[in-house]
Amino acid sequence: MRIWAIANQKGGVGKTTTTLSLGRGLAARGHKVLLIDLDPHSSLTRAFGVPVEPVPEGVQELFAAPPHEIAALARHSDIPGLDYLCAQASLATLERRSANQPGLGLALQQALARHGEQHDYILLDCAPTLGLLMINALAAADRLIIPTQAEPLALHGLDGMVRTGEMVERSRKRALPISVLPTLFDRRTRAGNETLKLMQERHGERVWEDAIPIDTRICNPAALTVPLLGDDYPGRGMAAYRHALEWLLLSEAAQLERAA
Ligand code: ADP
Ligand code: MG
Repeated sequence: MRIWAIANQKGGVGKTTTTLSLGRGLAARGHKVLLIDLDPHSSLTRAFGVPVEPVPEGVQELFAAPPHEIAALARHSDIPGLDYLCAQASLATLERRSANQPGLGLALQQALARHGEQHDYILLDCAPTLGLLMINALAAADRLIIPTQAEPLALHGLDGMVRTGEMVERSRKRALPISVLPTLFDRRTRAGNETLKLMQERHGERVWEDAIPIDTRICNPAALTVPLLGDDYPGRGMAAYRHALEWLLLSEAAQLERAA
């Protein structure tokens, strides 16, 4: 089982879109995949058509005493091999409510350890807040994937997220490889191209040498949710996500080989 955290302390950079697209790509390759929605805004949950009322069972129950098991909470999607675990709006106050319950930073990691090898890949769609949920995700993750908008203002957010990842790595004394996926890239603008160059200069091999382009087929302003696009969906955006997944799998294979 491999656990990927998809995180950035900035919102609207394509985290949920990336989680869904990579998840679909992995399922299309025959893997058993579980997507966990760790954002109280529940975009990923809603992409699967789950309404916010009545409140679905999900991540909140991993923090209950005693915690529920992932297998009992996860739902099958219509896509073979792709399961998901819902977020709830109440997660926004989890931190405040659990102030007198120590040890909750490892709740997700412990739930995943009990879950064992029932899925090949677990993808964690994080909220853009450096709080208890993000700490849980980074503690559990085998790798950190940072989607980052290819525009100048996003560079600070990227640097901050990289520092957070490195800090977690030092404190847990277990490697947390970082991969950066430039997203929402507009090839025609100088700002986009220069930002991409700067990202590569600052973060080197961690950065994918390509970028996910802005593709109007990915965003659907009429819908309030991130659309759940098929791995075979036409267009530059999804094609780029397929390439990004190949790169991620190749770099992971190289990391695992180095660690062996
Ligand atoms: P986050 O999870 O980081 O907040 P989302 O994945 O929800 O970001 O994306 C934010 C918005 O941008 C959504 O409306 C989404 O559909 C849109 N979007 C994401 N990636 C692309 C893209 N490559 N091209 C066009 N729109 C995109
Ligand atoms: Mg999101």
